Amino acid sequence: MTLHDNPLLQPFDNQYEAPAFDRIRNEHFLPAIEELIREAEEGIARIVSGEDFPTFENTILPLEEGSEHLGVAFNILFNLNHAETCPELQQIAQQASPLITDFSSRMMMNDGLFSKIRSLHEQYFATPAEGDLKPLTPEQLTVLENYYRDFVRNGALLDEAGKKRFAAIRSKLGVLELEFSDHVLAETNDFILHLTEECDLAGLPDFVRDAAAEEAKDRNLDGWVFTLHAPGYVPFMKYSDRRDLREKIHRAFSFRANRGNEHDNKGRMKEILALRTELAQLLGEPDFATHQLRTKMAETPQKVMTFLEQLHAAARPAALLEFDEVQSFARRKVPELELQSWDWAYYSEKLKEEKFGFKEEMLKPYFELNRVINGIFLVANELYGLTFNQVNKLPVYHTDVKVYEVIDTDGSLLSLFYADFFPRQGKQGGAWMTEFRGENRLKGKRLLPQISIVCNFTKPTASRPSLLTFDEVNTFLHEFGHALHGMLSQCTYPSVAGTNVYHDFVELPSQIMENWITEKEWLDRFAVHYETGEKIPKELLDKIIASRNFLEGYATERQLGFGFCDMAWHTLTVPFIGDVIAFEQKAIEKIRLFPRIEGSAFCPAFTHIFAGGYAAGYYGYKWAEVLDADAFEVFKEKGIFNRDVARSFRDNILEKGGSEHPMILYKRFRGKEPGVDALLRRSGLKSDE
Ligand SMILES: [Zn+2]
Repeated sequence: MTLHDNPLLQPFDNQYEAPAFDRIRNEHFLPAIEELIREAEEGIARIVSGEDFPTFENTILPLEEGSEHLGVAFNILFNLNHAETCPELQQIAQQASPLITDFSSRMMMNDGLFSKIRSLHEQYFATPAEGDLKPLTPEQLTVLENYYRDFVRNGALLDEAGKKRFAAIRSKLGVLELEFSDHVLAETNDFILHLTEECDLAGLPDFVRDAAAEEAKDRNLDGWVFTLHAPGYVPFMKYSDRRDLREKIHRAFSFRANRGNEHDNKGRMKEILALRTELAQLLGEPDFATHQLRTKMAETPQKVMTFLEQLHAAARPAALLEFDEVQSFARRKVPELELQSWDWAYYSEKLKEEKFGFKEEMLKPYFELNRVINGIFLVANELYGLTFNQVNKLPVYHTDVKVYEVIDTDGSLLSLFYADFFPRQGKQGGAWMTEFRGENRLKGKRLLPQISIVCNFTKPTASRPSLLTFDEVNTFLHEFGHALHGMLSQCTYPSVAGTNVYHDFVELPSQIMENWITEKEWLDRFAVHYETGEKIPKELLDKIIASRNFLEGYATERQLGFGFCDMAWHTLTVPFIGDVIAFEQKAIEKIRLFPRIEGSAFCPAFTHIFAGGYAAGYYGYKWAEVLDADAFEVFKEKGIFNRDVARSFRDNILEKGGSEHPMILYKRFRGKEPGVDALLRRSGLKSDE
């Protein structure tokens, strides 16, 4: 095989330039990625050795082109590895991953490249612009600023000693964060609740028992096994009548990575925090949160704290009332009961059944997959004038995958849309939106985006079509919202096109779509019973809407607790030498509802912020809800299918990617900065006055 016949190194020869899955084989990936990295590095060398004065065209443009080419091969590999993998492909992905990270760290360390970017940046940002300077578009300015900022954030302005220390911190952090999550996994796996008597299973529905019996069988054990992983732990806490066993499993859960053994993360947390603080301070910031928030819509720790406090002020009174309500309900069953944290899921589930009296299963017959697909395309058509035509002639990586041409209002081809709905071996759990190729206009004409959503929805059987749950329909809307962000993109540069936006802005297009799920006006147009053809009864829908806000004060406070803790740790300005458990208790004191479990703490197992991408970013979950609720209010006022509002949302948000600061884009759509009131009203934490 030569590079010449490698399909990943030539344009795909079909009218959409869609990935030639029929020709791409596993052995093509590594040679293609190596070759594309080589070409990209040649490109960088040409930029660095160029004699001309740095311009946007001779400096930034080639960087964008190089990463665009590499991106296609890389995206196909990693998308397949998530959606249709096998041991061989997993191994290839493991080999490819360091190639890419090494390439990008070599680029970030390239002093010659940085001095070009720095001088270009100075021309436009530092001194008053010179008279003969070629003006840049707002998007070009953003792209230039992003490159400069990324280099600086990677230590490009440091002296030699500083750079060395920076690199050492980075690599040490990489090791510690990995260890942190490995320990949490080891601790999660270290406990099982093994039950052998029927009486231990009191209260558990059949599907929970069956899964636990499977779990036991996999371990060659009799009876039933519940683990601390969500699919075992969550239903047990919700349904088990056995308070003693709920307490046992809950305590095990609450002491993960905090038991003084070799997997205890408390020491590791201190090391991680100290290194993060040092890294931020090397770059001239007071603390790690400030450093992280420079590249977020929320901008500063002060703004995040104000935001969290605003929500807390509204949620606290509701949470206290809800606590009393669940407590009194529990006392009707067990007089004198002191509600403990291991009682909450159980009694609130029982109270929910009593109050609303419906089961989610009741909705499934109304959500036959093909009807839901039509319903979702209908939203895109009503709002943005898009039409979806299925294409059968394109190669796909699995026969389950459907491909659609997306046609814009004016009849032009806007995008390709791939949808891969059902679970199978070789596919990761969950649901996500992704792309094989993003949109850009590097070559003058718009490159057709190739966007995909991958889900794990209920499969059809011989006797029943695929009937989705309410949550699955919600997931579909969510991922489709991300897909619209990719499909409608009208940017020039790939690094800011589509969903390449700030982390706390990326969920606006997805979450806003979830608002349609409770709109009768939309549901009535597609969600009819697959056997009888009747619409969802209004009473059922009303119950669903009411139940969505059930115990919302508690749920909000819980999320805020994580956010407060995250901010408390990451605004430290000196290494932490105190007691981890006491620090955590203090940070969440104001949201406390339950008696303390002496010695327990969640931070030693809080992988989101100590091992994932959410350090000083946990607030982002609530932030995104605030944005989507605030934005959806305009649709609520003017009509959920109002074309003018949709046009403005498309023009100002969906087409713009990250080409300008998200607050600027948002204000253009909304006319003002987002406020928390819309979310508080939607979630019943504030009345309509
Ligand atoms: Zn999302």
